[in-house]
Amino acid sequence: MYIMRLKELDLATLKKSGYMKQRQKDLFAVRLRIPCGNVTSEQLQGISGIARKYGSGYIHITTRQGIQIPDISIDYLDIITEELESNCTPPGSFGSRVRNIVACPGNHECCHGIIDTYSLGILLDKEFFCEDMPVKMKFSIAGCPNACAKPQENDIGVMGVIRPAISTECTGCGACTTICPQKAILVENGKASILQNRCKLCGYCLGSCPEGLIFEGRRGLKIFIGGKVGRNPRHGREFIEVNTAQETVAVFRKIIEWSKHHTNIGERFGSCLDRLKLEDFNKEVVYQSITAGIYPGEAEKSRDEQILEI
Ligand code: SF4
Ligand code: SF4
Ligand code: SF4
Repeated sequence: MYIMRLKELDLATLKKSGYMKQRQKDLFAVRLRIPCGNVTSEQLQGISGIARKYGSGYIHITTRQGIQIPDISIDYLDIITEELESNCTPPGSFGSRVRNIVACPGNHECCHGIIDTYSLGILLDKEFFCEDMPVKMKFSIAGCPNACAKPQENDIGVMGVIRPAISTECTGCGACTTICPQKAILVENGKASILQNRCKLCGYCLGSCPEGLIFEGRRGLKIFIGGKVGRNPRHGREFIEVNTAQETVAVFRKIIEWSKHHTNIGERFGSCLDRLKLEDFNKEVVYQSITAGIYPGEAEKSRDEQILEI
């Protein structure tokens, strides 16, 4: 018989283990660890069975692609943990730590997808999920600049981007200009060029040239910092662009460590950036990233040039 009594447990520890006390006496909601919101049909069946067996048969899909089973009696916390782990959908986490990683389908399924959001989500989940922080920390990954996963509304967000390039062989026919939704391609003096201040890095123009003269200049991951929603929403700002998923994880690590040292208890990361000088954060984190060799794509530029661009 598996019995845990609330009086023997610390509610903060329970929150860390994925259990949130409900307003009803001795009832808990368990939130599951579901990186990128992906579950197999078998896992979903398992979750369904657990909800029927130990809860009220009701399941809530959270706003962050998670699954939450409410109405769990305090008597069942141990057994339900065991069964959820056997189902490969273990309890997740609440409170001041890294939360469930959100991701859109990216280039697995979506025609617009530029990057493999799911693989990056798994990497970030393995590295950071449930890590203790001074405050909750939310990550999100969008496969392209359409930003369906709202990377600008998360403490740290990632977006896949493509920088197009036009060959000097361009004849100025103008066919590509009709494709760009941003009107970012200009034909002047018989040559097309891209207006960088308008280009959203979506890559739609690739393949639009009948002569094959628009190509992929660079594919990368743009990282945003300091976004949040809630009571006092704040749009995250563009921080840095990197080349690979591994570089993304390394930059996240730098940001997380910086945040642990500078963020006050309960203060969201964006508010910390507002309180402190953002320039200092940029310099500190970027210096460290460059020193650690994270930014090889930009290696030809001097350190000062890179910082000025950010
Ligand atoms: S952000 Fe882009 S890749 Fe992701 S679902 Fe939206 S359109 Fe597709
Ligand atoms: S990448 Fe997108 S926004 Fe930029 S020029 Fe091409 S189509 Fe236009
Ligand atoms: S479609 Fe090709 S050739 Fe025509 S303007 Fe665009 S890049 Fe130049």
